[in-house]
Amino acid sequence: MPEKPTFLTRPYLPPLEDFLPYLAEIWGSRQLTNGGPFHQQFEEALRQYLGVPYVSLFANGTLALMTALQALRVTGEVITTPYTFAATTHALLWNGIKPVFVDIRSDSCNLDEDLIEAAITPRTTAILPVHCYGNPCASERLQQIADTYGLKLIYDAAHAFGVSVGGHSLLEHGDVAMLSFHATKVFNTFEGGAIICHDLKLKQRIDYLKNFGFADEVTVVAPGINGKMNEFQAALGLLQLKHASHAIAARVEIDQRYRRAFASVAGVDCLTTAEGVKPNGGYFPVMIGADYPLSRDQLYEEFRRRDVRVRRYFFPLISNLPMYRGFASAAPANLPVATSIAKRVLCLPIYPDLDLETVDRIIEIILSIR
Ligand SMILES: *Cc1c(COP(=O)(O)O)cnc(C)c1O
Repeated sequence: MPEKPTFLTRPYLPPLEDFLPYLAEIWGSRQLTNGGPFHQQFEEALRQYLGVPYVSLFANGTLALMTALQALRVTGEVITTPYTFAATTHALLWNGIKPVFVDIRSDSCNLDEDLIEAAITPRTTAILPVHCYGNPCASERLQQIADTYGLKLIYDAAHAFGVSVGGHSLLEHGDVAMLSFHATKVFNTFEGGAIICHDLKLKQRIDYLKNFGFADEVTVVAPGINGKMNEFQAALGLLQLKHASHAIAARVEIDQRYRRAFASVAGVDCLTTAEGVKPNGGYFPVMIGADYPLSRDQLYEEFRRRDVRVRRYFFPLISNLPMYRGFASAAPANLPVATSIAKRVLCLPIYPDLDLETVDRIIEIILSIR
């Protein structure tokens, strides 16, 4: 009997009846967007939940990142990772900025901080690292490099919702951190995003820019964009916050079950969670090595045959896409670690309502092939 399909990820949603009162309020007030009451409440509630000084809400993470680059007046060249989702570097191109790719570390899949300085040129204005899979970047070292060379530090923290190190949120780091609340992320508002910053003037500028540059009814201070989060998204965000810790705990339980099962399997390597890190279970990547009987792609096909959605994430590397591969830094010889990991990585299903029997079935598929 065919099993029911298993997804790579499934958006968490609260019970529908819990959302209806929020909808009734929106219908009653006719305040649909433009910084309405739910927007204000969610911004404040999120600020407190994340323990950060300033939050600016956005319609999605990509607009948030594009706006952050404008707000910080980033130009010229930006050092970034090839091992990410296309939106990270697309946000650079949309701002007329040239991405300079630097290789990643194999233990975290994050930008290798030891390789950054060699890539800095007189045109470099910023570093754009990604906390890949929610693994913390070497934030202190990155800040030190940014300070030494006078660079902005902008985190793509799309994977990092709820992750902390030694009790400190990853979002404390850098000039700004971008969050995504896309349906596939750990915390969703259908679509949505935010910029976290530590300076009221910067928040103000970000808020002008996301609203066409309007500072008040008659004053336009910059050629802004429409990046506003609407009331429907903000209301869902408010409700989702009540479930966020529970949803993360359910993900982390699945993460631990996979880890235990693969600990003794040759050729199936998990990334380790560094000391003191509270993870969010956003992704579960495994690296398929030469010791495993199947190649990564063969295992991928095997899962597909059994209706288990797994994903080669991130593959292909951003640096291999047509709009990037012409840059000198995109050469595979410059990015040996990222190139190797993109060939070996497979992300397994993980989401809050993935039941443990299904997790065991997925584990059994990997074990039975040995
Ligand atoms: C999802 C994601 C984004 C884009 O966020 P959206 O909200 O979908 O626009 C950017 N960077 C990374 C690393 C992501 O995973």
